[in-house]
This record gives sequence, C-alpha cells and structure tokens, in this order.
Amino acid sequence: MVHPARPIRARIDTRAFRDNYLLAKRSAPQSRALCVVKANAYGHGLVQCAQAVRDVVDGFALLDLADAACLRAAQFAQPIVLLEGFFDSSELHEVARLNLSIVLHSWPQLQALESATLTRPLEVFLKINTGMNRLGFSVDEVPEILGRLRACGNANVIVAMTHFATADGEGVAAQWERFVAATANTGLPFSTSNSAALLRFPQTHGDWVRPGIMLYGSSPMPGLQSAADIGLKPVMTLESALIAMQTLRAGERVGYGGTFVADRQMRIGVVACGYADGYPRHAATDTPILVDGVRTRTLGRVSMDMLACDLTNIPDAQIGSQVTLWGEGLPADDVATAAGTISYELFCALAQRVPVSFV
Ligand SMILES: *Cc1c(COP(=O)(O)O)cnc(C)c1O
Repeated sequence: MVHPARPIRARIDTRAFRDNYLLAKRSAPQSRALCVVKANAYGHGLVQCAQAVRDVVDGFALLDLADAACLRAAQFAQPIVLLEGFFDSSELHEVARLNLSIVLHSWPQLQALESATLTRPLEVFLKINTGMNRLGFSVDEVPEILGRLRACGNANVIVAMTHFATADGEGVAAQWERFVAATANTGLPFSTSNSAALLRFPQTHGDWVRPGIMLYGSSPMPGLQSAADIGLKPVMTLESALIAMQTLRAGERVGYGGTFVADRQMRIGVVACGYADGYPRHAATDTPILVDGVRTRTLGRVSMDMLACDLTNIPDAQIGSQVTLWGEGLPADDVATAAGTISYELFCALAQRVPVSFV
C-alpha cells in the first residue's frame, strides 16, 4: 500500500464498540439488543463493527437490503431488521431468501405482503406512529392491520414497535402511553427503545432494544449526561497533523472571510483537515481541538482541506504535531455541540477520502 502522504486518518476502535454493545446489553438485561448499524454503522464500517460483536450480538438493524445481504454473506445468522422495511414488492423474495425481518409501516407494504407468495413467512415489526409522525400506522389502525397480518400467512412473528421523538429530552410519557394503549391485550412482544430510552426509561425495554449512537461511544443525551459518565468509550478517532504555522500580529485575520481577528500577537497552526474530509464547515471559532494532546480551539472558517487552530498555550507545537479532531481525548459530543450539530452527523459525514484503520 502506498503510504498516504496527507496526515489525516480515522481510527476505529472495534474493541470499544464491542464494550459499548455489552454495556447496552447490561443496561437492558431482560431484552435482546438489535445492534443498529444503519448508514455503514454510523460511518464506522458495517462489516468491521459487526465482526467485533459476532459472538455476543443478538441481531442487527439497518436500512439497505444490500447491507443485509453483506452481513449474511459474512456468515451472520442473527436476526436482521430492515428499519424501513421494503420499498418495492420485488424485494420480498430476497428478503425471504435472506431470512430478514421487516418493519411494516405503510398500507402499500401491507398489501404487497398480503399478495406475495413467499418461500417462508417473515418476522414483522409492526410500526405504530405514537407521535413522531414519521413512519407507522396510527393507533386506530392497529387492530385491522393485526387481523390482516395474522390472516395472510406471510408473517410468523409480529413485534409491536414505535420510535420516540424526545427520549433524549422531555421524555417519552405521551408516546409510551399511546403505545401501551395501542398494544394492550394483543400479547405482542415489543420494541421501542433507542439509546436514550434504553438508558433512561427501563419500562420501555421490552423484547428488543435498539441501541445506535451509544454503541459508537457518544451520549444519546449530551445535554444531560456525558458519554464518559455513562461509561461509553469513543470508537472513531479522527486525527491529523499540523502542516503549517503562522504568527499573527494584532489585527490580522484568519481564513476565508477573515472572520477571526487576532487581538494580540499569536501563533496559529494549520491542520490538514477540512470540510471535504467531513469536518463540519459550520464549526465556528472556539470549536475544541487537541494539538499534541492539549485542548485548544479552532479559529476562523473551516476550508475544504484545512482549518486553523490557536497555539497560544502550546508553545512546543510544530509542523507535524499530532492533532485530534474528535475521539480519544476529545469527545465527539463536545465538537458537535460547539458546531451546532450532533455526533451522529459528524460520524456519518466522514469522507471517503479519509483512510480508515481498524484496531
Ligand atoms: C436509528 C434508529 C435507532 C437508534 O437510535 P439511536 O438514537 O442512535 O440510539 C433506533 N430505532 C430506529 C427505528 C432507528 O431508526
């Protein structure tokens, strides 16, 4: 392999991923845990993350049939739930062949399932809209859907499911109440908990919890509790190095738009990382960053391939000094908060051009 000349790289700590999954399981000891690996495992690498939990994982949840096929090809025999179900009836044969579980959320999906001739019945996660208003049948529709699913013969297991909109903030009370009412006396197993609900609302655990972001070492509720306080370990570390330094005089400006103005003489570093690597362009001055392990701040606008940082308190920094954009030593949640986003978006945005290594 040609050594990449540009110093940026991402390291994925698959052992930390495994530890985080085990923490999720310990936090919901009565439930099985779907390891949510949609969007290429939140940007971390689908197969590598799956391999890391091979001997302990209860099941997976993702979106794309191709990703599910990829896990089956890698000899994962656990349940795999397609979180948006199928998009066209033509996919149903492959869904059955691969023995996948589907989320069923719409009338066209129900009609397609009723009309299909399948080699085996499917496990169906019946999605109920309890207030998120994204996917799912309304509470009133549940009895009819259930009757038709039971009659059609193409569903052998039915799991009631909903998704919470505010488990990370105000809580789940209203949605939970609607869900309990909608499923009362049905005897159905259920699945409702994302990471935030898993950690905060044990009554919602049910048969299958669905942890996502916590597996990647970020807090599902960074405003309430940090990842470290929960006991989660960072999985993705994005690193680079200083490729230039400048000394500014008072009044000099930095980067496009000249949005940062030095109020005194100061030394700054230029990091080989920009928005084309997935670093958020809207991260303004003062976003945290590590140089040689010392926490400092970004300065001015992020450009495509570079960003600037303050070296005032790091006199030994030089060209080649190690920089951590997020991960080990600098929680992605801190960077995300400063940039007005969430760690999910930082991880998923990691660019193709960044070399990734797995440890
Ligand atoms: C993404 C997703 C999850 C996981 O959510 P986190 O906040 O990452 O834990 C759970 N359930 C569904 C339906 C999802 O789409």
